[in-house]
Amino acid sequence: MLTRRELLSTVGGAALAAVATSRMAAAAQAPAASGPFTLAALPYPAAALEPHIDAQTMTIHHDRHHQAYVTGLNTAVAKDPAVAGKSLEDLLRNLGAVPDGVRTAVQNHGGGHYNHMQFWALMAPNAGGAPTGAAAAAIAGAFGGFDAFKQQFAQAAASRFGSGWAWLSDDKGTLVIHSTANQDTPLADGRKPIIGLDVWEHAYYLKYQNRRADYVTAFWNVINWTEVNRRLGA
Ligand code: MN
Repeated sequence: MLTRRELLSTVGGAALAAVATSRMAAAAQAPAASGPFTLAALPYPAAALEPHIDAQTMTIHHDRHHQAYVTGLNTAVAKDPAVAGKSLEDLLRNLGAVPDGVRTAVQNHGGGHYNHMQFWALMAPNAGGAPTGAAAAAIAGAFGGFDAFKQQFAQAAASRFGSGWAWLSDDKGTLVIHSTANQDTPLADGRKPIIGLDVWEHAYYLKYQNRRADYVTAFWNVINWTEVNRRLGA
């Protein structure tokens, strides 16, 4: 006769063994999902950007949406040795050179991974406000001032129909405001991204619902100008 403790121990052990077995089986079937790309942790707590971007949105956005792009990208590159050894930026800059069978997956999932990495780094707690340093000078020079810049950027974000991104990019030495569809990156057009704002509904819907414009306005309260200045100088 087993005691209650022994019974629990036996059942628990069997359950753990079953979990381990199913994990090994899953790993054997899909080794591609584990690399070479990985999802880094957010550089700040999920609640750090409250109240402008809420913790639940940040958690779901990073842990589920961004993770899905990483998994999708790993699955794609595992299918073709020709792309497995290349850097993500190389792949996205030269999508035409990516084999047909994986090009769309690299464009969507690779773009999603790249775009979200730059997005998390672009925000910070206790940040926002007017641009500083090189960004202040560059924005004044290219757009006439921060208010005019924000107006044009908001227009780019608002006029992107459906899902996509609003950008400030360096186009061969000239700063341009534009948008891309889906997870397309400025890299594909030969541009270097400086500021990229996610305007997919998953980025704002829980807090802002259909008010994309309010989310775009709130973004300026969390933008990390130190990171913007690093990108301008890179
Ligand atoms: Mn997103």
